[in-house]
Amino acid sequence: MDCSNEGMTPSRFADMPDCGQQYPEQGPRELRRLELALRMLRLQARTRTVCDWTGLSQRRVQGISREYAAARGMRATDRLRGPSPSTLSPFWESRRLRREAAALAGLCCLYGVMGNAAGSDRLRLPDLRRGGRLCQAYETYLSLLSEPRVSLEHAVLLVRALVRGTEIALSRCADCRTVVLIDRLGGIRGHCTYCAS
Ligand SMILES: [Zn+2]
Repeated sequence: MDCSNEGMTPSRFADMPDCGQQYPEQGPRELRRLELALRMLRLQARTRTVCDWTGLSQRRVQGISREYAAARGMRATDRLRGPSPSTLSPFWESRRLRREAAALAGLCCLYGVMGNAAGSDRLRLPDLRRGGRLCQAYETYLSLLSEPRVSLEHAVLLVRALVRGTEIALSRCADCRTVVLIDRLGGIRGHCTYCAS
């Protein structure tokens, strides 16, 4: 299984106009919601995910998506559809994905995506501030890899699982101290993929 997105690449939404120009009548908080929605759409987030993190309604997000797809000469149907991924199992299927997931989780930690959300209900995790940080962490991840394979949707899944702390946890390799992702359900792995081989 692959964690990557299919179809639209991140660059296809890369030159969306600034939403402050597009919606000049909106207040600051509403503008922040719109900015985050656009940023997440550029990163190929599904509608439900954008709604969760921005607080915008499904109808609003679909409208924004349609407007900008039209502005880019795309069809709205080019966007990913269907439910968000719900299982972490792809992260354990290859050494490469394990490394990428650990790096991404480390970046999310570095950028404070999880903040003080440990132990809180996962449905309370998404908010505007953390959404911006999530995008920042994910954009950094994209910039560091020539062929990134973890989608933003899987990054969201990863962040939520880290907050829950029952399935996975971040740790450090027992030998080289690099950041590793521990699978709490499938057996603790105390070494990175390099030191374990
Ligand atoms: Zn190591």
